[in-house]
Amino acid sequence: MTSSTAPARVARESRPPASGGRKLAVGAVLVAIGVLVVNGAVLYAVLDRIDIGIFAVQVLLTLLLLVAALLHIRQLTRDRRRFALSTILADLASEPSGIEVTAQEALATLLANDVAEAGVIALADDDSEEEMRAVAADGYPANWLADARPRALPARGATVSVGRDQDEHPWISVLTPSIGARPWVAHIPLHSGGNAIGLLLLSGRREGVLEDETLLERLGAQLATALDHAAMYEASYEREQRLEALDQARREFIGALAHEVRTPLTSIQAFADLLQLQPMAMDETAEQLVNSLNQGVQRLNLLVNDLLDLGQSESAGFTVTPTAVELPALFAEIETLLRPAYLLREQTLSVEIGENGAAVEADRQRLEQVLLNLLSNAHRYTPPGGAIALRTAATAGRVRIEVDDSGDGIPETLRERIFDPYYRVDRNDGTVHGSGLGLAVARRLIELQSGRIWVEDAPDGGARFCVELPRAAGAEAGS
Ligand code: ADP
Repeated sequence: MTSSTAPARVARESRPPASGGRKLAVGAVLVAIGVLVVNGAVLYAVLDRIDIGIFAVQVLLTLLLLVAALLHIRQLTRDRRRFALSTILADLASEPSGIEVTAQEALATLLANDVAEAGVIALADDDSEEEMRAVAADGYPANWLADARPRALPARGATVSVGRDQDEHPWISVLTPSIGARPWVAHIPLHSGGNAIGLLLLSGRREGVLEDETLLERLGAQLATALDHAAMYEASYEREQRLEALDQARREFIGALAHEVRTPLTSIQAFADLLQLQPMAMDETAEQLVNSLNQGVQRLNLLVNDLLDLGQSESAGFTVTPTAVELPALFAEIETLLRPAYLLREQTLSVEIGENGAAVEADRQRLEQVLLNLLSNAHRYTPPGGAIALRTAATAGRVRIEVDDSGDGIPETLRERIFDPYYRVDRNDGTVHGSGLGLAVARRLIELQSGRIWVEDAPDGGARFCVELPRAAGAEAGS
């Protein structure tokens, strides 16, 4: 088993042990003495003397009854205690955390419930098949754990053994100053799937609960289960961390690549533009080649910009600065920017500001980026001559911005997937090029502004993209 830095959980409360057996025993002895005194008094009153023979028989009978009562009380007390203690480690397995935390908590629970005065949990060493290392200790001197030498792993099938420490092992003799020499020691092997995985070692001045081997076996089984869960939890935590690190490395690599590609791309784009504007006559083939070069470079440029946007929006230090944004002014700017492209495809763009939907709390630049992306998608995925509408509507404390188009819409099953990076709906004609990154960036930007973005059906069959943002404070006079 290995140990890692999986997060800890809060320590559990310990339960009080079952008690009261001693009081019952004292009560039984007092009752026996009372019975003897009363019997003696009755005997004296009847016979006018104490008959030693009769009294001796009475004493004997009373003592027999007392021993029987004490044995019964002992058994009852043991059953009660076993019942109370037999599940104290069970819920360790239901809230998994790291191995060391689980082991330490188990010991703390056992000691808090007077099962022992000191304890160690040791687990199989990753580097040796026969040895185990102490992973948790309680009731031991500070720093003992760090210096404890490995010990032989219990044999396969080993069972609980309890006795006074005979061999003065260093794991026990270190307790002499606190518990005394030769304490009672319980060796409780821990098994998983039939294999020995470690040992729970408990020590105390008195044998106490340690005499109950059935209870110790049960506690050992619960502890082994909890440690198994903890090992699985650590493994999945480590896997998650590794995946996270890989994902981070991937993002950094893509970001760096996009950054490096941007500079040469800008020069190529400039040369391609120059070539296209050349006054000298180009034959038809050369003209086609220059056009293709230009288109290719533009597409690459878009891709690189999208990649940079995604990397930037996913980086930990990326922030947005929300202010009150007046939507009519923002929409007018966006309209001006997009008008030429819309005219080229003879598409109409209508704008409508709903009541109380004129201002939102948002980062103006980032909101503009998102709306440009949605309107450019609407333009690209709607056939020539189509209609696109940009409108706002107020909802409770929020404003919804809708972008409707009259294209093919988005199948219901893909309405979440299109927000995943690189995902593109497979269209047979393949005429619209893109990176599949725009909506992923848009969602990230909107969520950073405490907003939501989703897609639904537009009334005439196209797609309706909705962005919901907080309404700007004071912008809803009379609402
Ligand atoms: P891109 O458009 O660059 O592929 P996006 O992330 O902007 O990337 O969009 C992801 C996918 O969602 C697109 O490939 C397209 O299939 C689909 N999509 C986006 N907007 C629309 C729309 N208005 N109508 C139909 N499909 C759309």
